[in-house]
Amino acid sequence: MELTFLGTGSNNPSPHRGASSLALRISGTSNIYLFDCGEGTQIQIQRSTIRASRITKIFITHLHGDHIFGLPGLLCTLSAGASSMSPLVFYGPLGLREFVENTLRLSYSFLSYKYEIIELIPNTYDGVDESIIKTTIAKQEKNENCRTLNINEDGRYHLISNEDNCSVYAVSIRHRVPSYGFVIVENDLPGKFDIKKLQESGIKPGPFCSRLKNGETVTIDDGRILSPTDFVGPSRPGRCLVILGDCSDASNVIPFAQNCDVVVHECTHDDNLLEKAIDFGHSTPSIATSLAERCHAKCLLLNHFSQRYKPKSAIESKTVENEENKNKRQKRKEEDNDDNNNNDDDENLTVDLLLEQAKQHTTIPVFITDDFFTYTIPLPK
Ligand SMILES: [Zn+2]
Ligand SMILES: [Zn+2]
Repeated sequence: MELTFLGTGSNNPSPHRGASSLALRISGTSNIYLFDCGEGTQIQIQRSTIRASRITKIFITHLHGDHIFGLPGLLCTLSAGASSMSPLVFYGPLGLREFVENTLRLSYSFLSYKYEIIELIPNTYDGVDESIIKTTIAKQEKNENCRTLNINEDGRYHLISNEDNCSVYAVSIRHRVPSYGFVIVENDLPGKFDIKKLQESGIKPGPFCSRLKNGETVTIDDGRILSPTDFVGPSRPGRCLVILGDCSDASNVIPFAQNCDVVVHECTHDDNLLEKAIDFGHSTPSIATSLAERCHAKCLLLNHFSQRYKPKSAIESKTVENEENKNKRQKRKEEDNDDNNNNDDDENLTVDLLLEQAKQHTTIPVFITDDFFTYTIPLPK
């Protein structure tokens, strides 16, 4: 299983960071799950090693523009090469169907592949007008491509069960609008094959080993019957990933994410802006690390940075920019008289500050993700 970050900036794409999107390559299949699709995602996909035609499912954490403005464009581009496309399935908040269908209809766009949209009925979030929920559900009943899903008794939305070797759940998390975190649980993995034991029994390894590993009883050339239980250890729990949308509090996922392999957590602001972050439904390094700690996660990947925190490379490239560009930029800055551009300290602010703050709160390995950062989730030992 491998995560590729396609956009790691909040609010809008910039020359340094794309808007939110990340792709998950699923083990054992060539299928790709896409999580969020901010503006410019299709360009980011083309710059990455991700093959867009392999996307089979799109998960939308919430309906803020920086997470969905890339969707209509991507869907239309996929439509042009649709001969190899499997039907697409979308999962996301109530309202996702209207967004997709209205943007396609108003731009006279038609998709040449089939799709299905599964919308989550809000539960714990209390700011949704009930009449909106009722009208949306009533519309849904007329549309066979769409259905709604209620929260399960166990506090999760059950999205996918045992497909692509995994199950996927959604959990409500706190933001300014309904927002979800996705928990991906891989099916149990086969036990380890004990090749040493095979050799100690005087048996040379051969093609039959893969059948043994798959749990088959095999008869080898000398007539001996080998049982998988003698050479294959007990099955191991599969990997577990948590991919969170924008939030200031994702504690609802904690019961479902214990000992998970990785948490992807937004980190829009630094801890000096903690109050502002919470007011706007966002997180800082201390909020993200606290969640990862409470999940006993093995790794924390931070994303969704305010564009004010530049990647280090952006600062480095500025120091080698030519004199002409430097003068132009300075002139534009003066003309704009923009508060954000007036502060030289701000201009040199990098994501390193977020990493430093995160490391003060946890010993869990933390990574600041840049666009195209790829993380392979290790197999259990
Ligand atoms: Zn956002
Ligand atoms: Zn948001």
